[in-house]
Amino acid sequence: MAVSGAVPGRFFLPGPTEVRAEVLEAQTRPMIAHRGAGFQALMGDVQDGLRDVFRTKRPVFVSTSSATGLMEAAIRNSGTGPVLSLVNGAFSERFAAIGEACGRVVDRLEVGYGEGHDPDDVRRALRARRYEAVTVVHSETSTGALNHVEEIAAVVRRESDALVLVDSVTGVGGAELHADAWALDFVLTGSHKALALPPGLAFGVASERMMERAARTPGRGVYFDLVAHAANLEKLQTPTTPALSLLYALQAQLPRIGAEGMDARWARHARMAERTWRWVEGASRETGVALRVLASAGFRSPTVTAVLAPPGVDPGAIVKEMAARGWVIGGGYGRVKSTTFRIGHMGDHTEEELERVLGELDAVLRSTSPS
Ligand SMILES: *Cc1c(COP(=O)(O)O)cnc(C)c1O
Repeated sequence: MAVSGAVPGRFFLPGPTEVRAEVLEAQTRPMIAHRGAGFQALMGDVQDGLRDVFRTKRPVFVSTSSATGLMEAAIRNSGTGPVLSLVNGAFSERFAAIGEACGRVVDRLEVGYGEGHDPDDVRRALRARRYEAVTVVHSETSTGALNHVEEIAAVVRRESDALVLVDSVTGVGGAELHADAWALDFVLTGSHKALALPPGLAFGVASERMMERAARTPGRGVYFDLVAHAANLEKLQTPTTPALSLLYALQAQLPRIGAEGMDARWARHARMAERTWRWVEGASRETGVALRVLASAGFRSPTVTAVLAPPGVDPGAIVKEMAARGWVIGGGYGRVKSTTFRIGHMGDHTEEELERVLGELDAVLRSTSPS
């Protein structure tokens, strides 16, 4: 039997994503001391590439954790006052739940799964109560919805002094984002989504405002204390032992990302997404299976598409049949688990690879289409 994901170009999970062989191989380099000049050179090197990826002049935190760790960091370093959580899927709900788990009062501003938030609604919520922070997910990986973070952040800045905390886990590296120009107070991502690295590292950028607030926030804890991270990063170090092998992979991947260029990378993701949406429409016509893109037009992520199956068609069976043929796509996640499947068209995937996975999906749909 074919081992799923063993053939390059066939792993379309919305995280972890496919990692190129040369990046994987970089992880076999020997260990170095993480308090020595060798590590500082490594950290200095990856800082340049990471700043470009986030479009920031600020230092970029490197956390040995999954992305959820930095979601917790966002909450724990942003004061103690009420949080407004923009919820439109499972990951934005997780952000709200982390707020509550860390003892914050959290108000949810919810829109439907597949929708993005209207800045006018955010404005109204901010006028009704004083918030210390607003959480928002840029690309909601459970639904494929994209929030217009730039507009939302602008509204928050105009209406309040709340910090804007952005989960851009499937945004950074695939969807356009400018941490500095959009005045985002904290942006976080993980290694294993659009950056096409193995899981285990998370990256974050904090504004000066955020760092001032962090310094005054009691109960920041230890592992995700951004003040400690910042002090260590000044010496090009991390507070605790970093996942060195993953940093080697990062050091190998960043020049590859740099060679493509962020504008070209965003454009490639946009083309892959548009191709996927067109395919969904075509598949309905050509295979008789009335698929639909879950996310509303104008609010669709360039990195992941959740595809809604019609009643009577089990998306799980489609995912399984793809796996049997040696291709990996994602099942549904959260509230839309049983009605959707997901294609992670992000990371280093090429348009040719996408064309092949969509072709295979056509064949699977024809064989499963209800007659
Ligand atoms: C994957 C993902 C996360 C969680 O990432 P982990 O690395 O599993 O902790 C959070 N938010 C979004 C939008 C994601 O896609």
